[in-house]
Amino acid sequence: MDLFTLPDFDGHEQVVFGHDRATGLRAIIAIHSTALGPAAGGCRMWAYPSSDEALTDALRLSRGMSYKNAMAELAFGGGKAVILGDARAHKTPALLQAFGRLVDALGGRYITAEDVGTTTADMQQVAGQTRFVSGLARASGEVGGDPGPKTALGVFLGIRSAVRFQMGRSLEGLTVAVQGLGGVGHPLCRLLAADGARLKVADARPELLAQVREELDATAVAVDGILEEEADVLAPCALGAVLNERSIPRLRVRVVAGAANNQLAREGDGEALMKAGILYAPDYVINAGGIINVAHEYYGGSSEAAVRAAIEKIPERLTLIFERARRESLPTSAVADQMARERLRAGRAG
Ligand code: NAD
Repeated sequence: MDLFTLPDFDGHEQVVFGHDRATGLRAIIAIHSTALGPAAGGCRMWAYPSSDEALTDALRLSRGMSYKNAMAELAFGGGKAVILGDARAHKTPALLQAFGRLVDALGGRYITAEDVGTTTADMQQVAGQTRFVSGLARASGEVGGDPGPKTALGVFLGIRSAVRFQMGRSLEGLTVAVQGLGGVGHPLCRLLAADGARLKVADARPELLAQVREELDATAVAVDGILEEEADVLAPCALGAVLNERSIPRLRVRVVAGAANNQLAREGDGEALMKAGILYAPDYVINAGGIINVAHEYYGGSSEAAVRAAIEKIPERLTLIFERARRESLPTSAVADQMARERLRAGRAG
């Protein structure tokens, strides 16, 4: 395998392979860009079938973080770490500490945080070895901690702006189908319900589904039916690649706007949505509330009000994308990528 000719290699600045014999740590850290600041992005722990697949994920996700951080106007570049292994079976404090030493050896070029397979508590272990970590447990009143509710706030505001753009109205009385009721989906449902939206919800965990149905008078939908449900808005808040050649022709909504990362299975799916007359809020723009929270925690000296003010810029940014997409007859996903690349280029030149 030749790293520099892999399809997902995008001029990444640095890729580090880390191994620790004592704990069995096998990790890859990909630094896509530091043009706008230290490369920031979470640490994913996953039982990858091979190190090639782990490398592909690190390359792809780190580029995604460059775009996300650039569009959120943060002083962060893009990076991502992956630890190879089953989080339930192989994650130990010693392994996380070894990962912390690997991060520390990069001297601040990469800042880590929680992601799929790691938690706020795990980052506490990492923090024992390096200061280049964010997303730590916080005492109440301090900025930082669980990014889920902040991501939910940004997604909620983004849904409102997408509905305003596409339908010229508020959310009152509209129906939103929410796929996934976890750390983001559940607080998102609360915000939507408080704003007068009706909810159709699905989750693979029946206890979460029952809780949201009772708390918010939501209609429960089967997991395999939520993408085809008739509604005004679909908010994917569970998995990636849910928008694909199979699902797009079956969608019965006018707006897709949710938290999940990498919602489009392929680049061409953005065009398919546009042709179907569905307004798509690019995932990494609408779901930036969590990384905004992480940035404010990392740089310190901030307040909840400042975090909120930064998250409140997400709808303005989306509206800019929607307008440019309409003007240039381009998919919103392509416009977001263009804008992110423009910002990275300006950062490199500056
Ligand atoms: P989570 O793990 O807390 O919740 C995901 C939920 O989706 C779970 O309750 C799970 O049971 C459910 N689910 C899984 N498969 C499903 C299916 N096929 N149909 C319906 N439900 C299903 O994760 P989260 O933190 O809420 O994040 C949700 C998504 O948003 C993920 O894609 C994540 O990468 C993305 N995201 C999260 C944040 C954040 O701040 N947490 C930030 C940016 C992006």
